[in-house]
This record gives sequence, structure tokens and C-alpha cells, in this order.
Amino acid sequence: MIKLYAINCGWFIAPAEFFQEGAGTDRTRAPVPAFLIEHPGGKVLFDTGMTMRFKDYMATSRSAAAGYGVELDESQQINTRLQAMGIEPTDIDYVALSHLHHDHCAGLALIPDATLLIQRSEYEFAYGGGNAMYDKSYFDLGHPVKKLDGEYDLFGDGSLVLFPTPGHTPGHQSARVRLPTGDVILAADCCYVSEVLADFSRLTAGSCDREQHLGSLRLLKDLQGKGSRILFGHDPAQPVLTADQATLVN
Ligand SMILES: [Zn+2]
Repeated sequence: MIKLYAINCGWFIAPAEFFQEGAGTDRTRAPVPAFLIEHPGGKVLFDTGMTMRFKDYMATSRSAAAGYGVELDESQQINTRLQAMGIEPTDIDYVALSHLHHDHCAGLALIPDATLLIQRSEYEFAYGGGNAMYDKSYFDLGHPVKKLDGEYDLFGDGSLVLFPTPGHTPGHQSARVRLPTGDVILAADCCYVSEVLADFSRLTAGSCDREQHLGSLRLLKDLQGKGSRILFGHDPAQPVLTADQATLVN
């Protein structure tokens, strides 16, 4: 039977309006999650969270002066979180990355033996260079890569389906996990917080393609309307994302 765990991998600090339009400039502490999916066919991570390397980079970057930062210690990195669950990083078979921004892919460096699952359009954009939000040294680490062209049912039984939700980045993808209690959607950066899905005018200006992003939000909204539970990308109001330990989603 499939199991889904939400795993907090530290906190990204930013002005509230970074996560939702019109929210003001108060510094907000937002969780950075990874997810573990256990299936008889293998162990899968969806995103990998941040690392001490990324924390150090943020502390010295220009954005620190603008109120951005990272709260993280080694116990919150994905390798340590997995070991606390009795799982070695080398036990992970697949890493599905929503996209290749640092706070989602940095932890890949701690997961040595997995095959990457990523949309081809994201891969090609990231390797094309020229965008400051991408740094190959975080993800070009020699892992086997399976490039996806659209929806992908990893185990062939509908229990874990990756599907494109472009707009935040060109090849962003989300995941649908089919639990006995219903479908859970891992939105990642297609939707940072619940307020944006409730009111699309709160979508910030950070999308690479706003029209595409709005289309992806409509898809999530439609899934929500059909009964799927949405776990948002960086929502401090979702307890499974903020617990200081891996949390079974059921
Ligand atoms: Zn992102």
C-alpha cells in the first residue's frame, strides 16, 4: 500500500508579498517541504528541500539585505530527516523534482543513487543557462535522468502521477498521490499558499509565464473542486508542512 509523508526541510524567510500579492512586507517564515512516497515498487522523493550550502549562499547574497533568508540546521536536511525515519538516502529509488529552483533541488546532492524524473521542458530550460534562478552545480550531479513529456504514471497503477503545471517555470510539474482516503495533490510552486488558489488575483508577479501559470492554477482548482486535497508549496498554515519531523499524510 502506498504511503505519503510530508517532510519539513527548513524555512524560507521572505516578505509576505513574495508568497501572495497584496500581503504586505512583514517577514514571513514559510516551510520548504519534501515528500516521501513509499510504494511496493520503490521509494520516491518529490522535491528535496534546502541544504546548508543554499543557506550559506542566501546569507551572503544581495537578497539578504532585502529581507530574504533561510532557517535551517543539519537535522532538517533531507538525508537526516530520512535517517530519522530509518531510511538511508541510498534507499531512495527516484527523485521527482517539481522544478530546478534551488530550494527544491538542493537536497539532491544528499540523495546519491536515485533516478531523476523531470519534465523535459524544465530540464532543457535549466541547462540552457542564462537564468539566475538556476545553478547547474545543484542538479548536474551525474544522476540518471528520465525526461518526461507530460503526464507520467510512475508505477502504472495510478497511485503516483506526475503532471505538468507550467507557468512558475517552463517545465514545472506537480504530483497526484492516490491514498485510500482520497487524492492528494503536491502543488509545489504552482501554488505557494491556499489564498492564491482561492483568489487568483493574489498570484505574484514572479511567474515565467503568467497566462500559463493561471491555466495551471485553474487545473488545481478543478481538482480541488472534485475532492482532491491540495498540499501547497510553501504554506505556513498547513500543519503537515510545518511539523519538525516527517508526518504521515492520511
Ligand atoms: Zn520555484
